[in-house]
Amino acid sequence: MSDKPAFKDIKHPAQGERLVFKGGNPVTPDHPIIPVIEGDGTGRDIWKASRRVFDAAIDKAYKGKRKIEWLEVFAGEKAFKTFNNWLPDDTVDAIRYYGAGLKGPLTTPVGGGIRSINVALRQTLDLYACVRPVKFYPNAPSPVKEPWKTDFCIYRENTEDVYAGIEWKSGTPEADKLIRFINEEMCAKDPSMKNKRIREGSGIGIKPSSKHCAQRLMRRAIQYAIDNNKPSVTIVHKGNIMKFTEGAFREWCYETALTEFRDRVVTEEELTKQEDEHAKKGGVKVTISQEKGKIIIRDRIADAMLQQILLRPDSYSVIVTMNLNGDYISDAAAAQVGGLGIAPGGNVGDIGAVFEATHGTAPKYADQDVINPTAVILSGVMMFEWLGWKEAGKIIEASIVKTLEQKRCTFDFSRQLKGATELKTSEYASALIENM
Ligand code: NAP
Repeated sequence: MSDKPAFKDIKHPAQGERLVFKGGNPVTPDHPIIPVIEGDGTGRDIWKASRRVFDAAIDKAYKGKRKIEWLEVFAGEKAFKTFNNWLPDDTVDAIRYYGAGLKGPLTTPVGGGIRSINVALRQTLDLYACVRPVKFYPNAPSPVKEPWKTDFCIYRENTEDVYAGIEWKSGTPEADKLIRFINEEMCAKDPSMKNKRIREGSGIGIKPSSKHCAQRLMRRAIQYAIDNNKPSVTIVHKGNIMKFTEGAFREWCYETALTEFRDRVVTEEELTKQEDEHAKKGGVKVTISQEKGKIIIRDRIADAMLQQILLRPDSYSVIVTMNLNGDYISDAAAAQVGGLGIAPGGNVGDIGAVFEATHGTAPKYADQDVINPTAVILSGVMMFEWLGWKEAGKIIEASIVKTLEQKRCTFDFSRQLKGATELKTSEYASALIENM
């Protein structure tokens, strides 16, 4: 009997296979089926261009031996128009069954309306690590003087924090009930809180932070640092203010590093202590360099970190942080290396991943064939690496470098780059293919 889920509105492709997982990593067949959500707004133009680039690179790398069977699945406006459902079960079931997905941006209204489909997908499929590399490619326009110094990877917690979606609107019976409970049962009866009160009529949002989620994220980030010879992992938090959520996140990350990776890591505090001891003995203050092969684990407060990534980006190589901090830091860091048009990402779990750019739907550019598809194309490169198809990823990355060297780019780059040739989205994809 087949274990394939029975879909309502989509069909399993006749050709191709699903991924299987061993120890949290995919085992990729030569002909995998990858579900794709095209996305709203500019997602349509971007997917058309990206698919051509992906197929050309796979063809170039594997000469027909390997191929991806793209399976369109639906979410967002296209799903709502076609099936009257923003996120059909078929879509979630297909990504879960086939083990991976590629996703364009989806609209989320501000204030009321539907909740984020992006967040729902990450939570439902438990894709707990949002991985966002930030790296400079020569000729990408940048507002900073030395953009090449920015080269780090952000590990953003993807399932908790204020993104949990547990909130109640101001003035509703639920919000009022919770406010009464917190004021009368929790604050009034706790001596350390007795002067605290939530103002009547407030809206309420909940910020959960668990040891389980901090640990699994930190484990993945340290493993990435080990596999890629990175010198440090920096925990970014706002634990000075939010002690039991952000502060606890910091503690749990340190605990993971020191219990699970003790022989591979040294904390910044341990290094400082060694320096102080050395100074006491010899009377001279010296900098003790980290032991060969050991990764420095340290932490920074989130607001200070936004300054650090601008002033001393080369001090950072892996950043681990909760959901909201990660969202802010990744957009700010993206600006330093060329903007959202070139900022890729992946949402990774233990038995699946969905790759998507950092940017949103950029609706004012929808269907004009002008948007920069590089962020989604680089998200595809991340997917190829994750699949173990490094050769295809390398071909694409090299063609991006070459095309930028030729100063052939979309409007977001050409408007800041002297002597550039402005290309449409589709023309830029053709230039990438030509340069492979
Ligand atoms: P956005 O869509 O990321 O666009 C903001 C601005 O960034 C654009 O106006 C454009 O700047 C620039 N930009 C973004 N992507 C670009 C690209 N590929 N090429 C060139 N420039 C690009 O952010 P938003 O306007 O705040 O959000 C729009 C919608 O997207 C909202 O509904 C939001 O909720 C949703 N969203 C979805 C995701 C997701 O699906 N994962 C992520 C973020 C936001 P200029 O105007 O300066 O040219």
